[in-house]
Amino acid sequence: MSGPEVGRFANYIGGRWVGARDGAVMESVNPATGEVLGVVPKSGPMDAHDAIEAAAKAYPAWRKLPAPRRAEILFRVAERLVGQKEDLARLMTQEMGKVLPETRGDVQEAIDMTYFIAGEGRRLHGYTAPSEMPNKAAYCVRAPLGVVGVITPWNFPMAIPSWKIVPALVCGNTVVFKPASYTPLVALRFVQIFEEAGLPPGVLNIVTGPGSAAGDALVEHPHVRVISFTGSTETGLQLAEKCARLGKRLSLEMGGKNAAIVMPDADVGLAADALIWSAFGTSGQRCTACSRIIVHQAAKPELTERLVERARRLRLGDGLRPETEVGPVVSDSQLDRVQRYVEIGRQEGARLLVGGERAREGALARGYFYAPTIFDRVRPEMRIAQEEIFGPVTDLIEAGSFDEAVTFLNDSRYGLSASIFTRDINAAMRAIENIDTGIVYVNHGTIGAEVHLPFGGTKETGNGHREGGLQVLDAFSEWKSVYIDYSGKLQRAQIDRD
Ligand code: NDP
Repeated sequence: MSGPEVGRFANYIGGRWVGARDGAVMESVNPATGEVLGVVPKSGPMDAHDAIEAAAKAYPAWRKLPAPRRAEILFRVAERLVGQKEDLARLMTQEMGKVLPETRGDVQEAIDMTYFIAGEGRRLHGYTAPSEMPNKAAYCVRAPLGVVGVITPWNFPMAIPSWKIVPALVCGNTVVFKPASYTPLVALRFVQIFEEAGLPPGVLNIVTGPGSAAGDALVEHPHVRVISFTGSTETGLQLAEKCARLGKRLSLEMGGKNAAIVMPDADVGLAADALIWSAFGTSGQRCTACSRIIVHQAAKPELTERLVERARRLRLGDGLRPETEVGPVVSDSQLDRVQRYVEIGRQEGARLLVGGERAREGALARGYFYAPTIFDRVRPEMRIAQEEIFGPVTDLIEAGSFDEAVTFLNDSRYGLSASIFTRDINAAMRAIENIDTGIVYVNHGTIGAEVHLPFGGTKETGNGHREGGLQVLDAFSEWKSVYIDYSGKLQRAQIDRD
């Protein structure tokens, strides 16, 4: 087998599985148990440069392969993902903690995205247009850009890479992938599937290692024409400065502080069920997690009671166990961050209704578990209502009217996902129009995107690019306009027309 060995894993560069040049390694650890799952290369700039060179070398042949042929390989990737779904989901649960139904969903999203975008291999439509001149044809086509650098977070370790790698490849680019340091094993398995599906050497390469070393080298290297990044706003804005200086194309998906509005006419039971999963699914570590619940004062007593009762009953544990509803957070430092914000919330005068501490009973003491936490009496301007905590913490913010609720919702530097619970169609339509986020749900939590619709956010969540939908192709291709003059004489557009 050409793939990585069990226990000790390698980078995939130019069709070969290789260690870091200096032999440095780092561990992948199960956040539910502390068990070391594998050892992977701790790659530095030299390894990233090797991968970039391999991608640059593979580019001319890959871009010339007709897009429908490129897509055939991607369809084979999708089929292999289907066949290995359960194994991949189990590995993902072990590596980053979310429960099996969620990791199955993560792999399924990669499957959906791969089938959807592979289908574009037979489309990649441009368009024809009438020319201003007689005997002249005019049309435009999508062209690839070259080597794409893909930098991803750990919370969707297969879905997010698939949103970037598959469209980049179908457009004819080659890729160097730098996954999050918490989830290298899932990323390596994902890349191995492309190898098994027959992707030519060098077309997709992976280097595992710290963002500040391997990731930064991708951003700085002149041969990398595009950086596609998903992660924190802090890192994303640093990358934006660098890419602007280097004149490099950059697609950014960053933080969120997503909110749901619950109106008095809502089905409050439905809202509570949906919001429990929006707030505490993936232990609150989704970019679309609901961390602000803006509730009309008339609905507040009932909603609060239901949420607290449900949150208290959530079963924490190892995500591989069927009874577990909420897994650990990803790391010790993430646990500290959550705890810090809980202290900030207390100091700001918010009232803790449930949770607010690390969960340590029995086997939980071995992992990074945090009790699902709900704050009441939160004001929109408080730090816990403004800053992304990225953990199992949500806030109740009371509003006196629909307009006030929408104002509170929009009072955020972020703009990814939002929802409204109401039975009033007029209120729903006004919310859709006035909420300033990239995604809006009605009578549904803030989570659950579908791959064939554009995904992304406004304000400091993104920089205008979208992943998912056909819009994702714009991040990985550029337009070439073509004019063919078959008049047999010199036609001078401006002069002849004047
Ligand atoms: P980070 O920004 O810490 O890391 C994201 C990726 O960037 C990782 O691969 C990381 O490597 C790498 N990186 C870090 N520093 C640099 C650097 N200087 N140069 C190049 N690469 C670098 O985010 P997290 O992994 O902690 O992910 C959580 C964040 O992601 C949250 O803010 C969340 O909202 C956001 N997110 C946004 C989504 C969206 O679609 N809007 C979707 C999912 C998550 P390493 O792991 O080695 O540090």
